[in-house]
Order: sequence, then structure tokens, then C-alpha cells
Amino acid sequence: MSENPELLPKEDVVLRVDDLQKSFGGLQATDHATFEVERGTITGLIGPNGAGKSTIFNLISGFYEPDGGTVTVGETDVTGMEPYQVAERGLIRTFQTPRKLEGMTVREAMLVGPRNQPGESFLSLFTSPGSVGEAESKNLADAQRILEEFEIDHLATQPATDISGGQMKLVELARAMLAEPEILLLDEPVAGVNPTLAKKLEAQIRRLNEQGTTFLLIEHDMEFVMNLADPVIVLDQGSVLTEGTPEEVRNDERVIEAYLGGGA
Ligand code: ADP
Ligand code: MG
Repeated sequence: MSENPELLPKEDVVLRVDDLQKSFGGLQATDHATFEVERGTITGLIGPNGAGKSTIFNLISGFYEPDGGTVTVGETDVTGMEPYQVAERGLIRTFQTPRKLEGMTVREAMLVGPRNQPGESFLSLFTSPGSVGEAESKNLADAQRILEEFEIDHLATQPATDISGGQMKLVELARAMLAEPEILLLDEPVAGVNPTLAKKLEAQIRRLNEQGTTFLLIEHDMEFVMNLADPVIVLDQGSVLTEGTPEEVRNDERVIEAYLGGGA
């Protein structure tokens, strides 16, 4: 891996980003970014507006193709793979702005695109028609169970467009869990969410982490991220500035300066 003396040593790495690069025209949005995520952690990814956090998520999850560098999930080099292929390797992400789910109930929204859904494979319709129905009823049962665990099963039959933005964030998290991720990337899960729902989201993330899911968490709300995450990686102008405990990062002059410079 590329040298960065600021990075903490890791024992069991679930995600490795090595020397990742991405430019948009003349703008270097991701500039030789290198870091690792240890299995079992909630790792924070912070940085001022425009630091390149969402771009890194898009690169990791296969939504953007990097100009250079590699992304490794577990033992697999996933660089250049399609999002569904990266998802099959156990890496799932949510979006800063949830997609519109018009004409669907919350339950139906839960069932859009979970990984390994045979019904989505054209070929399996011919090779094993029986397994389509089985997988669908398993997904339905899993969706119901997860909605109950999130205490939002009462929303199941509501139109997905009728629930609040905060509830939608909970549904997004619940939906991501249906894919049984090894590592879940959350992009600003509490942006625009009221404090009561934010507490619920925090408790759910903690519960899922205790049950074994690793998290990489982008969040603008400092209190939220500092409460949940350890370690915290700081991104500035597309590069990793430093990594440390919430305490270390909070008191780092360079981090404070980066935030002031970013106008955040
Ligand atoms: P953050 O999530 O940290 O706020 P982003 O990753 O969204 O930052 O953006 C980093 C920089 O890259 C910004 O200057 C942004 O305007 C630019 N950028 C992001 N996505 C695109 C894109 N698809 N096309 C052009 N510029 C982009
Ligand atoms: Mg962003």
C-alpha cells in the first residue's frame, strides 16, 4: 500500500483503497487517496464540503471508474467492476440523496435490487423457474423481519413517497441490510433528519455493528460521527489528511484548518 505515516495499522482489513484518483475536467476530486477499513469497526470519513467524500464512495462502489488506483473488498480486487458485482462481494452503499421511489410502497421499495435475487437474472427464468418464487418469498420474509427490527413495519404498506425524509433514511438503511452486507457505506445518513429519528438511526447502526456489520460512515454532523465512529479518517481536497480516534482528530489543528478553509 502507498505510504502515509498518518494511517493506523490494521489487522483484518475488509476494504482497502489504494492510491485512488479521479478528476472531473481540471478538478482533482480524488487525489491519491489511500486508506483501509478494519473489519468490525464503524469507521468515520469526514472532511469539509467538496473534500471528495461522496466521490470516493462512488469510486469504491463501482458507480464511477477511477483514473488510477485500486479498490479491494476482502481479498477481491473490485476496481472497475459494476455496482452489482461489488455488491455481490459484500459491499453495499446508500446515497446522500435517496432515489425517488414513486408508485411503490415501502415494502416494495425494500425489495428493489437486493443482491442475489434470481428473479433479476434473465437466464434463471429458463434454468430454474422454481427458485424465482422461492427467492422472492424469502426476500419478502426477510424484508418483513428487517422492517420489524427497525420498528418501521407499520410503514410497510404506505407509499414510499408519503413518508418523511428521516423515515426514508431508516428505510434506506433497512433496505441495505436486506443484501446482508459485510461492509455498509452510509453517505450522510442523518442529513436533514430530525433529532429523534437521528437517535434512532444511531441506535440501529450501533445494533447492526454489534451484530457484525462493518460501517464506513460519511457524516457532516460532527456530534453524530464522533459518537459512533472510531477510527475517523479525514479527507481534504481529495487526499487523506490523517486518521485517528475522534479525540485525536477533533484536536488536530490541521483538521480544524481544513474545515475553516472549506467554509464548513
Ligand atoms: P463531498 O462529498 O466531500 O462534499 P464530493 O465528492 O461530492 O465532495 O465532491 C468533490 C468535488 O468533486 C467537488 O468539487 C464537486 O463539485 C466535484 N464533483 C463531484 N462529482 C462530480 C461530477 N459528477 N462531475 C463533476 N464534478 C464533480
Ligand atoms: Mg457528499
